Amino acid sequence: MTAVHLPSATEALVRREVVGLPAYDPGADPDEVARTSGVARIIKLSNNESPFGASPTVTAAVSRHLTNIARYPDPTGKRLAEALGRILAVPTERIVLGNGSENILELLCQAVLNPGDLVVTQAPGFSLHEIFPRMMGARVEKVPVTPQFGFDAAAWKHALAAPPKLVFLANPCNPTGAMFTGAELDQIVDGTPESALLVLDEAYYEFARPRPDYPDGLEVLRDRDQPWIVLRTFSKAYGLAGLRVGYGVASTSALVRALDRVRTPYNVNRMAQDAAVAALGDQTHLADTVRRTGLEIARVAARLRGAGLRVAPSSTNFLFIDTARHAHSVALELHRSGIIVKAWREPGYESFIRASLATPGENDAFVRRLLEICGRQEP
Ligand SMILES: *Cc1c(COP(=O)(O)O)cnc(C)c1O
Repeated sequence: MTAVHLPSATEALVRREVVGLPAYDPGADPDEVARTSGVARIIKLSNNESPFGASPTVTAAVSRHLTNIARYPDPTGKRLAEALGRILAVPTERIVLGNGSENILELLCQAVLNPGDLVVTQAPGFSLHEIFPRMMGARVEKVPVTPQFGFDAAAWKHALAAPPKLVFLANPCNPTGAMFTGAELDQIVDGTPESALLVLDEAYYEFARPRPDYPDGLEVLRDRDQPWIVLRTFSKAYGLAGLRVGYGVASTSALVRALDRVRTPYNVNRMAQDAAVAALGDQTHLADTVRRTGLEIARVAARLRGAGLRVAPSSTNFLFIDTARHAHSVALELHRSGIIVKAWREPGYESFIRASLATPGENDAFVRRLLEICGRQEP
């Protein structure tokens, strides 16, 4: 990650933590790639979005608001919180809504972290699990995955003993796509001291849920006394990334009240709130998205592995692929063909790209071009 560079007069104004903050990498801009490649139909595989879009019921829910834009949204997000509470069997007082679940990651850091506090997360990992803690002046320790992208029990045990103030754990993980089993998750939960807040980021929950060995974080944590929060989002499987809405279920209503103090009052807009309620109401569309994604993930991973590329096991809608080349140049070559992926930059993973899947035809175009660039052939 690269630091943000500021002119010196501005730098003198800005907090030291912010000056040194790594910039979030959103991936290449599709308009820019279309312009430079001359390809009209860009294949965007860089942000783990849904190629199947949102439920048609969402469109209707959003259109109703077009005549009512002058009104502020409900600051408590009552309707959405109640819908979630019913489905998840938790009181609405323990639910927090965010402008994307990223917003809740940020609120948690603002509410909990003092300068110098320790945060433990995983490497390779989701950059905001590092950026938001550092923004508050916290230190971040990253526990590496095993060479097979798995759980390193000894490394986690060591890191949790420090002890941290906050633990960010994504299950399934981004960027690897791999998941912790129930036994592995239990080890982390048991090892997290009661003085720490355990944040379980389940952005890809809906994709992993059909697997019999996937531990549903809410079920694992429900009866635990220690402080925890499970985060989920409408951005990925529900296909609402553009509207920005996610939620958290916290161990106590007191934690939600603390987040409410740092939260901007109208953080989730009117359309996002109602779109999420509509999306929850169409579980058929969700199941269809998850099923089609799973088929494509298995098919594309098998083709890439068949051609000799190493691909991490995925319980998500994306693949983490070792190109065995400098990933940045592979990504640039793909851009020239109008295909956008994310080249990984974390130490030890500079030969990896992360690619979320699109429609079967688009995925085929991606596989064909990637294998050409990497000089690989299918058997
Ligand atoms: C995509 C993602 C999120 C959040 O996305 P929002 O759009 O802000 O809800 C959070 N965590 C991980 C690990 C993700 O990959």
